Amino acid sequence: MITVREALDRVLREVVALPAEEVPLSAALGRVLAEDVTAVLDVPRWDNSAMDGYAVRAADTSEDEVALVLNEVIGAGYVPVVRVASGTASAIMTGAPMPEGADAVVMVEDTDGSQEGTVQIRGKATPGVHIRRRGEDIHTGDLLLSAGDRLGPAALGLAASQGREVLSVSRRPVVAILSTGDEVVPPGQPLQPGQLYSSNNASLAGLVTRAGGVPLDGGTAPDDLAATVGRLEWCIAQADAVLTSGGVSVGEFDVVKQAFADLGVPLDFWRVKMKPGKPLAFGVAVQGGRRVPVFGLPGNPVSCMVNFLEIVRPWMHAAMGTRKPFLPVVEAIAAEDIHVSPGRLDFTRVTLEDDKGRWCCHSTGNQSSAVLTSMVRAHGLALFPPGSEGARAGEVVRVQLLDPSFLDRDDPGLP
Ligand code: AMP
Ligand code: MG
Repeated sequence: MITVREALDRVLREVVALPAEEVPLSAALGRVLAEDVTAVLDVPRWDNSAMDGYAVRAADTSEDEVALVLNEVIGAGYVPVVRVASGTASAIMTGAPMPEGADAVVMVEDTDGSQEGTVQIRGKATPGVHIRRRGEDIHTGDLLLSAGDRLGPAALGLAASQGREVLSVSRRPVVAILSTGDEVVPPGQPLQPGQLYSSNNASLAGLVTRAGGVPLDGGTAPDDLAATVGRLEWCIAQADAVLTSGGVSVGEFDVVKQAFADLGVPLDFWRVKMKPGKPLAFGVAVQGGRRVPVFGLPGNPVSCMVNFLEIVRPWMHAAMGTRKPFLPVVEAIAAEDIHVSPGRLDFTRVTLEDDKGRWCCHSTGNQSSAVLTSMVRAHGLALFPPGSEGARAGEVVRVQLLDPSFLDRDDPGLP
């Protein structure tokens, strides 16, 4: 048996960066940037007013009220034409460029609000007050975003603020998903005796999408060599990576390994020291100049998902060029005794709860590799190294987070 680390290392050694493509900002959310974005504009582009009010010379103001002669009204989007001379002021709106001569803005609330003739200004203004300086946020030449960043809404806004319409991002990997098994049928068909619906196509498609890829349904193949070879060949031709589920154990009808061999995919078959998810087949199909990794995942629904999360997801992230391809890990206090059988790295499905500022974890119940209900409830996977028998209540365990949306609240949580 090899360790999860070793399996991961061997898979990551095969990573080839996906090519970049240009996409409009509207399609760039969540994508991985393939270029550095450097500022070509100062932001703000000019000294401008942070308030609706009056641009003045601070020296003209005093503790008492003064009357200043109005020059002009400067709206946002307009360029001031009059220099603010001593004894004068220009009405100015938020974001409008500061006129020459002025060194402070008095907000409209501290004036009589006049728009013509003279304006009454109350109180002493400090030089520089309510002025946003050119380049205060961004200087031309600043590195704004780096290749490998995952683009969020603020990053898209930042790119747009520099006039960018498109960004270079790494192509999303197309990942084909092929389930195997005489008993496995897609939802929508009637079940014959002995059959069950494939859950793996659906959960793997969700995992692929969430990891930033494009799932391609390769359907289901019976436990028949010719049929499996046919489906697998189609998948390899279409996709950047192929996932099969089932048929990689040592059962009599487990034809996936032979199908790899028949397609000339040099196969590493590993018994990985992990629970769930022990059997994993891995090989790289070479087609023309393309190198397509093929992952033979176990059939049990939870094994299949955990194997994806630990091995396939990092491959996808690395191929897209993210700098952090692994799931987040937090420390949590075991709320009760958690027993695991020693021998393999154990991924125990747990819920997490905030207990006065500390994470606290509970097992989600039946940890069988076939039990999806306990995976649905899971917020994370508690990690118990090979040799560990679990944790006693109160001990600290490390937990990989599955999906941070469990942190969403049913109340606003505001002070
Ligand atoms: P196998 O790895 O082919 O021996 O399958 C192990 C277990 O997973 C068996 O109980 C299968 O019925 C089940 N299984 C295999 N493929 C799927 C699938 N696509 N959806 C749900 N269960 C599956
Ligand atoms: Mg099978």
